[in-house]
Amino acid sequence: MSRVFVAYTGGTIGMVPGAGGFVPKPGEFLDIFNHLDFVGAPELPDFVIEEFDPILDSANMRPTDWNRIASIIEEKYTEFDGFVVLHGTDTMAYTASALSFMLEGLRKPVILTGSQIPLCRIRSDGYRNVVEAMTLAGDYSIPEVCIHFGGRLLRGNRATKVSSAALKAFDSPNFPFLGRVATGFKVRDDLVRRSPHGALKVHSLGRSRVGALRIFPGMEAEILENILRPPLQGLVLECYGVGNAPVQDGKIPAVIESACRRGVVVAIASQCSDGTVDLGGYATSSALAQAGAISGLDMTVEALMTKMMYLIELGLPTDQVKYRLGVSLRGELS
Ligand code: ASP
Repeated sequence: MSRVFVAYTGGTIGMVPGAGGFVPKPGEFLDIFNHLDFVGAPELPDFVIEEFDPILDSANMRPTDWNRIASIIEEKYTEFDGFVVLHGTDTMAYTASALSFMLEGLRKPVILTGSQIPLCRIRSDGYRNVVEAMTLAGDYSIPEVCIHFGGRLLRGNRATKVSSAALKAFDSPNFPFLGRVATGFKVRDDLVRRSPHGALKVHSLGRSRVGALRIFPGMEAEILENILRPPLQGLVLECYGVGNAPVQDGKIPAVIESACRRGVVVAIASQCSDGTVDLGGYATSSALAQAGAISGLDMTVEALMTKMMYLIELGLPTDQVKYRLGVSLRGELS
């Protein structure tokens, strides 16, 4: 029988109503889950659940928490066949993207899930998500970091939270689902990454300074200039459409050019979730490329930010960081 390690990091799944809204309550998830009739059913893999201390609303998660998750996976790696990470939905796509880069050489499934409705509520979507994630982690060969939510199995670094209300809260706009679970399990072996060679190598994250800024009509170049000041090392600039920005007065390209000359990495993402950045499609995007910005292609903002952190923290020279941002490392771009 396969063995699955479940890291319970927090999120709505184990929350209860508090004075200011839902809050994670230590022990709540385990209390409810361990008393369910189906726990111990032969369909479920053998599993061990470990509750993090503290458990967090994922809005409070930081790279140090990603490091904790990566470390526990490393510690339990040989003992278990697969891993489930129970996590809040708000930053689940950031954690999944970060882990995909941090866990180099991963050969076992790491499936993140959680719920939109807490387990303490009768309509909770948590039971289904957890049971399905455990099955995927225990019974399938999926050597990558995924999000499984609302019956959709998504590559983690392709996923983004698209709904604060729907039970299918995540989508993967630029890549097909890796699988679907309805009455049965369907996993697309043709899309799942091949198992890499070599041992697992875990990278920590959190020493770099990166940011993101969304362009909007009338945005003054000073806003961009301020955010690009030291100690910032990398910026994801969320532009319009294929990567367009207001460039007519030349101020935004000038600010980008001066930051790039100082060695700051500026990557252009799109405010559209679907499609790819194409710097050069319009004069309003070529100007950014000429200033030294690079294309974020069809990566999610979550993947682009965490990949930038990962590459900067590898200690690579700026031109290498820029080059590798455009190369698929873990299936994060087409
Ligand atoms: N705020 C919650 C969290 O991200 C939302 C959720 O879990 O759905 O932890």
